[in-house]
Amino acid sequence: MTTLFVRSGREIPVLGFHPWVFSGALEKVPEGLSSGDPVTLATAGGQFLARGYFNSYSQIAVRIWSWDPEEEVDGEFFVRRVKNALAFRQSLFGPETDAYRLVNAESDLLPGLVVDRYAGVLVVQFHTQGILRHREAILAALSKVVRPTGIWERSESASRKVEGLESKTGLVSGEVPDRVAIRENGLSFLVDVMGGQKTGFFLDQRENRQAIMHHARGGRVLNAFSYTGAFGVYALAGGAAHVVNVDSSAPALALARENAEANGFSPEQSSFVDMDVKKYLASSPGTFDLIILDPPAFIKDRKKKRDGLMGYRRVNEAALSLLSPGGVLVTCSCSGHLSEPEFRHVVMEAAARARRPLQLLKSTTHAPDHLELLPFTEGSYLKALFLRAL
Ligand code: SAH
Repeated sequence: MTTLFVRSGREIPVLGFHPWVFSGALEKVPEGLSSGDPVTLATAGGQFLARGYFNSYSQIAVRIWSWDPEEEVDGEFFVRRVKNALAFRQSLFGPETDAYRLVNAESDLLPGLVVDRYAGVLVVQFHTQGILRHREAILAALSKVVRPTGIWERSESASRKVEGLESKTGLVSGEVPDRVAIRENGLSFLVDVMGGQKTGFFLDQRENRQAIMHHARGGRVLNAFSYTGAFGVYALAGGAAHVVNVDSSAPALALARENAEANGFSPEQSSFVDMDVKKYLASSPGTFDLIILDPPAFIKDRKKKRDGLMGYRRVNEAALSLLSPGGVLVTCSCSGHLSEPEFRHVVMEAAARARRPLQLLKSTTHAPDHLELLPFTEGSYLKALFLRAL
């Protein structure tokens, strides 16, 4: 295996268990090393640091999967990693929740691999050349440890394109139904793992969905950017009088309708509006006691941060103008390029423009199954602010 030497002083993050090494931190990389090749990292003085795989396509030259000099990357390695990941999720959830992120890439020490579990079905994503090399061993480990009824692959991401990898989707093994029925906090949802957004469901919002229930009782609720209506179902379960779900995806709204019915709520309690949220907010739809704003990432590219910030400010300002006195706004951002303080700031600007003083009830992030290695702030993206308008 090739040893790559880390420049003196640049080994500190590696020693602190940060899973990435940038190209600038490395001494000369030997010729002939290809993307995906396994490497050992050592200090300039030759002391072992970690093991990972090389990547020539991005600034992230090495992704680390072990700091243990004795640990070999073989079939048993993947079985161990998957067992460890599963044990943690099993400790988090009882039978009332059977859908979660089973493997969260770098933070589960399997960089480039995402595995979401939907009841008996696993959805896998291989994001890098380095992880793709171990595809068969990983699939074997997942089958052995989890015993799924089916595995579906959805390897499609911008990072794959950067590495010259084609998108790959389809059945890997077993059987996967068109719609997988899952339980989340005792509620039922149908998930389209083949055609839905991401791997089919926004698992990262699970705990935030549960938290809105306290604010829904008896109220009129707006679930903006509803996708398949999950926040709306929780609002109804929390006692909401009526929920308006707004999204620009007709298939998502069709599932949202089924999801509300599947949980026993009468059709009159929900409406489903296929419309651009900005247009809906500007259409004088009346006031709401609880508004959930969970838009797609407005800042997809660091260079377009200013436009994205403007997007957040506008949509929050428009939502605040529809909030009843004492009403609650749960506003989210999944832009990795925006920090929590920056998001708070932009919402504060929106509040100033809407002339609505806000009380911060709480600030949260992704669900605990989307765990994060402590130094890996790059893995952090979701922010949710629970705000009460005066
Ligand atoms: N809150 C959802 C996830 C929202 S994902 C949940 O918990 O499941 C973001 C959603 O915004 C997607 O469903 C997408 O179709 C929708 N969307 C994106 N841009 C939109 C726009 N301008 N107007 C309405 N919906 C939009």
